[in-house]
Amino acid sequence: MRIDVLSIFPSYFDGLTLSLLGRARDSGILDLSVHDLRDWTHDRHRTVDDTPYGGGAGMVMKPEPWGLALDDLAPASPGGARPTIVFPSPAGEVFRQSTARDLATREHLVFGCGRYEGIDERVFEEASTRGEVRLISLGDYVLNGGEVAVMAMVEAIGRLIPGVVGNPESLVEESHEDGLLEYPSYTKPAVWRGREVPPILLSGNHGAIAAWRREQQLERTRRRRPDLLPDDED
Ligand code: SAM
Repeated sequence: MRIDVLSIFPSYFDGLTLSLLGRARDSGILDLSVHDLRDWTHDRHRTVDDTPYGGGAGMVMKPEPWGLALDDLAPASPGGARPTIVFPSPAGEVFRQSTARDLATREHLVFGCGRYEGIDERVFEEASTRGEVRLISLGDYVLNGGEVAVMAMVEAIGRLIPGVVGNPESLVEESHEDGLLEYPSYTKPAVWRGREVPPILLSGNHGAIAAWRREQQLERTRRRRPDLLPDDED
């Protein structure tokens, strides 16, 4: 998969050289490039923002650098490959595991990180001539910029690309994969500071362990995230 990230703070993404995604980049499974939006400015101050039409507080990201960056990273190619262009936004659809699974199937993702009060609205229209545009929110709160949201999305998407996580089975039994939260996990020692591992996990009875884990998933989900349960399981 190819991923291009546009940001005025590219060094936010240095962490993506680490761990599983770093290895995926080294091995060529993930072709990830981070670009400085200011490289597409042409004035001495490398300006990316201006005052809002209609007045109001804060600054808005100017369309010109975005347009030029899209020309290079997502050129219009009639009949050719169309990237998926994601703009993180608190006003977008909420990012979920299902969103990550969907985006993990794409060949080319472009992420555009907003700052200030956001990006001139016409950029989204322009981007939609190049590919599918998705405005995606990390959650119902406001961040200073899109970088943290894109880091989270790239990590959630990246780990679903075949070959990134060594044992694909570990991707199946995760919170949100089957609509429930994951069961609790334990490792050695069997007793730690007087706290015992649930005896069922030491029993070797795989059927009983699976049933216990399922019950734990339901109980946790009921207690912590009842909104995830279908109405008849509330
Ligand atoms: N004025 C915008 C609004 O009220 O919808 C918020 C702008 S916010 C200060 C600046 C940038 O941070 C946004 O353009 C977006 O890229 C990013 N951002 C902020 N909160 C976010 C969230 N919950 N999810 C994803 N991106 C977010």
